Amino acid sequence: MGNLSPYLLLSTGLFAFITLGVLLLLIIDKSEKINKLRSSLTTLKNSFNDLDEQAKLIVKTDLDLNKAQEELDKRLGGLDALQKISRLISTTLDEGEIFSRLQDALLTNLPFEKNLILIYDEERNLCSRVALGFADGRIPTIVADLEKDSGMITSFEERHTFSSINSPKPRREYINQLLGVEHFVFTPILSQKGIIGVVFVGNQSNAAAITQGDEEVVSILASQIGQTLENARLFEQVFRSRQILEAKVHDRTNQLESALKEVQDISKTKSEFIYAVSHELRTPLTSIKGYASILMAGKLGDIPDKVRERLGKINTHSDNLVKLINDLLDISRIESGRVEMKMTKCNLIEMIENVHDLLTPQMKERSLNWASNIDSTIPNMLLDSSQADRIFINLISNAIKFTPEDGTISVNARLNNDVVTVEVSDTGIGISEEDIVRLFDEFYRVDNQINQNVKGTGLGLSLAKKIVEAHGGRMWITSKLNEGTTFHFTLPVKQSLTDNDSSTTEEEIL
Ligand code: ADP
Repeated sequence: MGNLSPYLLLSTGLFAFITLGVLLLLIIDKSEKINKLRSSLTTLKNSFNDLDEQAKLIVKTDLDLNKAQEELDKRLGGLDALQKISRLISTTLDEGEIFSRLQDALLTNLPFEKNLILIYDEERNLCSRVALGFADGRIPTIVADLEKDSGMITSFEERHTFSSINSPKPRREYINQLLGVEHFVFTPILSQKGIIGVVFVGNQSNAAAITQGDEEVVSILASQIGQTLENARLFEQVFRSRQILEAKVHDRTNQLESALKEVQDISKTKSEFIYAVSHELRTPLTSIKGYASILMAGKLGDIPDKVRERLGKINTHSDNLVKLINDLLDISRIESGRVEMKMTKCNLIEMIENVHDLLTPQMKERSLNWASNIDSTIPNMLLDSSQADRIFINLISNAIKFTPEDGTISVNARLNNDVVTVEVSDTGIGISEEDIVRLFDEFYRVDNQINQNVKGTGLGLSLAKKIVEAHGGRMWITSKLNEGTTFHFTLPVKQSLTDNDSSTTEEEIL
């Protein structure tokens, strides 16, 4: 062996060295790979952890979403129920009916085991109007306890809602005990004037816990009840006031009717009295006038001038008295309907011209001007001509009497819708508003200089108005002091009478 060649030794050593080097390189390479694998493993682990976290998050979000969906469904259900209840109770204005509908609606539409609606009556006592799910006889105790609890009432007045999710423990326990439920909403019913009642809903079982949504629904329900009750009470108030007003109007109408009847009776008695007295006076007056005329005519022998003069006065005064009595008789006859208008075909233009002719001397004496404007389309009219004459004579005579010299008297007449409106105007002294309202009263004469000097009866206007009314028309006055007066009156045109219609008798027309 000591003869081994150095070459062999060298080559063996080289070989071993190379092998060792190769092995070393192999080991280094493996360890690098192992390191790489290790780091990949760590990355994988981290990713896996991330995924796990995300999965947990997704599950949690899903749970939250489900819960939110449930709450949303509940709220939607609640709002739907509210809408139904609101529609039901808002279509009546009867308070009793509102609560009866509420009772049914609460049962069918809201998911609460107990429902209670208490309302204040006029004496401010709480009264039960809806009570569902409570044992018999329990309500009076609840009401009594509540009324004693001023703290709770004050909170209600301050618009506070109590619920099992928002109330402090002592309050929650108190309500639990008072109303016998675990979960509840207790809220005031408010109107513009303040609290008018309370609404309570509650559930006993833990599975039916109250949510925020329930609290909102019950609060809205309470405000709808408040609104509806307020409307109903307002309506009731208006309805009652209307009934009271109607009763008052009815009473007043009755009073007025009986007063009118009384006035009519008195007026009738007055007319009858005037008629009787005038009638009785007229006969002796006619005799007095007759005897005076006989004496004046000298049929009983000559009479001295002085006696003649006195007899003349007796005659004049008798004439005045006869005129007065005739006017009185006419007024009472027309008033009582005793005088029948003798309607004949009349031409208004001719009638006015005749009266003008009759009164021209008086007008000339006072230097008064005359103007007339009569609508030529006015047809012949059915009038009692002698009575209608008196209307014009009275009005125009008055105009002459109360118009200073150089004034103007005018008569206008126009046709409108089968009605003729006549105006007799003057530029005279005028009439004050206070006098106008009394001017058609019998015997009323304005206290003025002219009336103090010129005698009159105060019956002319009253008679003229009654004649107009007996023809189916009406009369009124417009006037301004110191400027003049206009008497207006209407007369209906009876169109059935035409010029070719002369065969028609008065009775047939009337
Ligand atoms: P009399 O003329 O007899 O007094 P009337 O009934 O005809 O009675 O008239 C009543 C009163 O109405 C008159 O006294 C007068 O004061 C007032 N009156 C009537 N017509 C006029 C007139 N055209 N202008 C002013 N006052 C008048």
